[in-house]
Amino acid sequence: MKWRLRDCGGVGIVGMEVKRDSRDPIVVIGAGPAGCTFAALRALRGDQVVVFDDEKRPSMLVGESLVPAVVPIFRRLGVEDAVAGVGTHKPGVSFEAAEEGVIHFNFKSVGKLLPNYSYNVDRPAFDDVLRRRAEELGVRFISKRAMVEAGDGDRMLLGADSRDAAGIAEDAEPFVIDATGRARVVARTLEIPTERGERNDVAYFAHFENFEDVAVEPGQVIITALRDGGWSWRIPLPGKMSCGVVLSKARARELGETPEDRLMEVLRSDPHLESVTREARRVSDVAVYTNYQLIAERASGANWALLGDAFGFVDPMLSPGLFMALESAQILDTQLEAHGGRTAVAFESYQAEVMDWHCGWKELIAYFYDGSIFSLHAAGKQVTEILNGGFIPKRIEAHMNYHIASMASGGRTRSRYSRGLLRFMRKHGMWNVPEPKVFAVR
Ligand SMILES: Cc1cc2nc3c(=O)[nH]c(=O)nc-3n(C[C@H](O)[C@H](O)[C@H](O)COP(=O)(O)OP(=O)(O)OC[C@H]3O[C@@H](n4cnc5c(N)ncnc54)[C@H](O)[C@@H]3O)c2cc1C
Repeated sequence: MKWRLRDCGGVGIVGMEVKRDSRDPIVVIGAGPAGCTFAALRALRGDQVVVFDDEKRPSMLVGESLVPAVVPIFRRLGVEDAVAGVGTHKPGVSFEAAEEGVIHFNFKSVGKLLPNYSYNVDRPAFDDVLRRRAEELGVRFISKRAMVEAGDGDRMLLGADSRDAAGIAEDAEPFVIDATGRARVVARTLEIPTERGERNDVAYFAHFENFEDVAVEPGQVIITALRDGGWSWRIPLPGKMSCGVVLSKARARELGETPEDRLMEVLRSDPHLESVTREARRVSDVAVYTNYQLIAERASGANWALLGDAFGFVDPMLSPGLFMALESAQILDTQLEAHGGRTAVAFESYQAEVMDWHCGWKELIAYFYDGSIFSLHAAGKQVTEILNGGFIPKRIEAHMNYHIASMASGGRTRSRYSRGLLRFMRKHGMWNVPEPKVFAVR
């Protein structure tokens, strides 16, 4: 999966004039996970925060499977028990490519780096947990669509209605946070250029009861490459299974007229899915997502910043989305604190860090799409088998598995060493094993 991003540094903020007064209110647009997390973190620091939300959240939302790196953020916000109450324990993820291309990752293999588990969550209930926490911390929510317009000098202005609703004084200049997800209200208003990924996929998903349980362990997420192109997810939720398929738009058109037809046709025709869905009953509508691989070239400006999907989203296969929503909020909060408030250096550091995260995810996810992760896994097992399980081959295999699992968990995704190790092993470590293209997701 190639991206056109010219480099991983984005566009510099050189010469940007930034207001230093941190007493002006913070206006967050969008009460999704990114917006609520940032609002809660700033409220914890004593800032006045107002969050606008258009209350248009659909009942079926993707973003149900979380990586372990979100758990420390839950602990920081004091919401882990509440999240556990709306989800299932997630011990790991299994990836199935071709017959011999099966990898079971258990988060225990990431050792002490991160919690050894994560959660699969009922998404609207999860969003409510974060919102309630922000409310408890004194954040004010306004149920209204926020109106914005471009001002002079790279500034973002709030419309008069929105200013009034938020009670912002005439001489105050709010710090505007775009956390509107794919609506990308600020980014669109300022016409910030974006880079798109090369996959032209569409995702269909729904909730089911009576899925046959083939899980390696309860709560294990299963990602399967589909025989006729694309891939599917199975995410165990409390009392039901979330199942989605991700296909090229061209393939989807061949499968029927409606989203329901297309999803059900994949479940009927793919051998992996057919065997587990014979008795399954759909208990929700079918939701559709398209054109989601998109990253903005800038993450902040004179009095604004982009968080979560409003800044960018790489791809759903490894579930980085909610982690990036929460982590981008955490990074912005930390950089503001470290660099004296809304300064150019705080914004520049924020942008560099989120760009680097996206680069790490892009590189890792590309190895799953092109099949190299499966060839590497096969190579590691082969060395251990050939040398009859000796100490050194076992250590090499465990070392590789540790780095892949901890990158996919969100712990070492950006690590220079882990990324370098994977690049090196892809180049020099795969002999006498099936080529990556055997396992590639078409
Ligand atoms: C097919 C697919 C599968 C995915 N699966 C996963 C997964 O398993 N795990 C995972 O971690 N991530 C997954 N993701 C990604 C994840 O869903 C997103 O990354 C995450 O929801 C981003 O959160 P956010 O807070 O940035 O935005 P959102 O969750 O989109 O929240 C934005 C909020 O802003 C509000 N809003 C919009 N415009 C306005 C306005 N003008 N005024 C006021 N409010 C406004 C919206 O109503 C919404 O409440 C998936 C994505 C796709 C496409």
